[in-house]
Amino acid sequence: MSQTKIPILDLKPQYQTIKAEIQAAVNQVLESGQFILGSVVQQFETAAAAYLGVKHAIGVNSGTDALIIGLRALGIGPGDEVITTPFSFFATAESISSVGAKPVFVDIDPHTFNLDPQQILAKVTPQTKAIMPVHLYGNPAAMAQIVEIAAEHNLKLIEDCAQAFGAVYKGDCAGCQQACAETVRQDLMGKRVGTIGQIGAFSFFPTKNLGAYGDGGLIVTHEDAIADLARMLRVHGAKERYRNQMLGYNSRLDALQAAILQVKLRYIDTWNQQRRQVAQAYNQLLTGVAGVIPPTMSDGHVFHQYTIRILNGQRDRVQQALADQGISTMIYYPVPQDRLPIYCDQYPINPNSQALAEQVLSLPIWPELELKTVENIAQVIVENLGIHN
Ligand SMILES: *Cc1c(COP(=O)(O)O)cnc(C)c1O
Repeated sequence: MSQTKIPILDLKPQYQTIKAEIQAAVNQVLESGQFILGSVVQQFETAAAAYLGVKHAIGVNSGTDALIIGLRALGIGPGDEVITTPFSFFATAESISSVGAKPVFVDIDPHTFNLDPQQILAKVTPQTKAIMPVHLYGNPAAMAQIVEIAAEHNLKLIEDCAQAFGAVYKGDCAGCQQACAETVRQDLMGKRVGTIGQIGAFSFFPTKNLGAYGDGGLIVTHEDAIADLARMLRVHGAKERYRNQMLGYNSRLDALQAAILQVKLRYIDTWNQQRRQVAQAYNQLLTGVAGVIPPTMSDGHVFHQYTIRILNGQRDRVQQALADQGISTMIYYPVPQDRLPIYCDQYPINPNSQALAEQVLSLPIWPELELKTVENIAQVIVENLGIHN
């Protein structure tokens, strides 16, 4: 195979396809002299809200801030518990701890990598105020069951959509090969993630599936009162300048990022579709390979990451074999949130998350990734695992 290095993500080919539009949009902002919030940010907020199918979109500094401000806008703080998944990036639990609340970890379903709705009820207490599911790797969580539990126990729902811009909810069992009972909530079918709970929080970190060329984030909600609060919180808790009413944040989306994102938003469906095609190609090549569990191809999944499971303690060896061929891979995440030094003394082990941290391997994926590269990568994996059924 070729010795050209294959990164886990290459942003350069995509830039080449939109270079003229990006440069025109950036130049317009530079000429305008307006760099923070303002009309360009508003236009992007309006376009993003229309795309997602939600009333309000509020641009902020980062996905982390979108979660923190989202929790504050829901009135969550000290003494409150928020149920979430251990199997995510630390920003998920960090946002809960940052507002003074307590993250309560519920284990994942190993087939979807997402919060297992069957295990939520056992962790609900009188202090529980919200559930924060994560649509990990771009795969929508089992929202029908989560929505039902939230409604029954009067809990708020804040979706961490940092990896899932444009992902569509298609049922709790979409693409599932298990013999599980499908829960159908027709009213939720076809909704984009982030618009199902009270709040959706998105990240535009450059490597995300909708990425800016710097930090950025977005809060979305159907509710006017939540939107008002979030807009205040992003500018130091003031509705009117110099009339601050509460402790807020300096967390504004800048106009350059908004202009770039508005160009990229026009392509997001195409790019998400291309990601799905790359995932489909990997799945065809890796299905039936002993010792590998490819991800399920659920309908609304946008494959921010393409993550396989490698069984029998072979993951690190396969990762090394790929590295030896110049192929970069990543482990998202090597340590579940509840096992991190900041939390591990306070929480028991969640066995599925713990087991998957030792099995998962994320392979190179981006919309323009070529099929022959996918074939090369899959071949190295197959060769290093031996038997192909
Ligand atoms: C990236 C990410 C975040 C944080 O987003 P930033 O924009 O980097 O602050 C939160 N949650 C998840 C699941 C993420 O992947």
